[in-house]
Amino acid sequence: KDFMSSQEVRWCPGCGDYVILATVRSMLPQLGLKRENIVFVSGIGCSSRFPYYLETYGVHSIHGRAPTIATGLSVTRPDLSVWVVTGDGDSLSIGGNHLIHALRRNVNMRILMFNNRIYGLTKGQYSPTSEIGKITKSTPVGSIDAPFNTMSLAIGAEATFVGRALDSDRTGLSEVLLAAAQHRGAAFVEILQDCPIFNDGSFDLLRKEGAESRLIHVRHGEPIVFGAEGELCVVRKGFGLNIARTSDVEPGDIVVHDAHTDDPEYAYALSRLSDQGLTYTVTGIVRQAVRPTYDDGAREQVSRAKETTPADLQQVLHGNNTWTVL
Ligand code: SF4
Repeated sequence: KDFMSSQEVRWCPGCGDYVILATVRSMLPQLGLKRENIVFVSGIGCSSRFPYYLETYGVHSIHGRAPTIATGLSVTRPDLSVWVVTGDGDSLSIGGNHLIHALRRNVNMRILMFNNRIYGLTKGQYSPTSEIGKITKSTPVGSIDAPFNTMSLAIGAEATFVGRALDSDRTGLSEVLLAAAQHRGAAFVEILQDCPIFNDGSFDLLRKEGAESRLIHVRHGEPIVFGAEGELCVVRKGFGLNIARTSDVEPGDIVVHDAHTDDPEYAYALSRLSDQGLTYTVTGIVRQAVRPTYDDGAREQVSRAKETTPADLQQVLHGNNTWTVL
């Protein structure tokens, strides 16, 4: 099973979406699920054509609202593996509310956010992740909007799973996608995706290797070292994290990545690493915590309601009884 549909793929030549599609197609068989038990729900944008290109169920829905449709599916069909595919414009502008509340509620779904820092489908306007000063068709003298730090936003919205990968890093992306697929709850995966037509090379700095690299890949249980031959590392500084030269610190001072810690402040600090004016981008599984899911709670309430008589309700509403909230 390769999950490839018969639809002609219609993205621009060189678009990062192709490699994401190829990676998802090679990951899906590893889940051991029937194709009819997998659903991809999208909103509007270049990335939202994704469901056409997979031989699974799919919904090409409305702008920014894919998480709401996915919430309904997740609550009513626990037998399905529910995925949302969205872009930075779709999920962070018109769909901002729907995204943060799906994460806050911990609805059992995987949200793949393709972040190309531009509106591609409408031909090159700035998006909520475009950098300050960005010149686009809608910001001809430069954007004055501060962009979202998407990872900080997801962690602030109480996401229980937060991961990130570069489109071109098929190994890293597969690793994050597989873990997201197996997570119970809302899994947010940001995929840094090149749009060669309207925002070419926006992640080139992250694709460099050695001393010029601004990318830190984290793995649970491993010390966080990076740069040319591991010359840089992450250490604790007060309540936060800092970057240091590996040769200047004791091995025991280097932070060992703990994706499973309940404390979201650690993941939040990872999402905002900078040093001497340079901003670093963390990839990998940054956070993977356990919390009850919205859909389990909703199903439990529905099944209890089916066994509830009008007299029971009267007692709950007007008596001393209260229902236990999960
Ligand atoms: Fe890809 Fe950009 Fe073309 Fe959209 S406009 S298909 S994001 S290259």
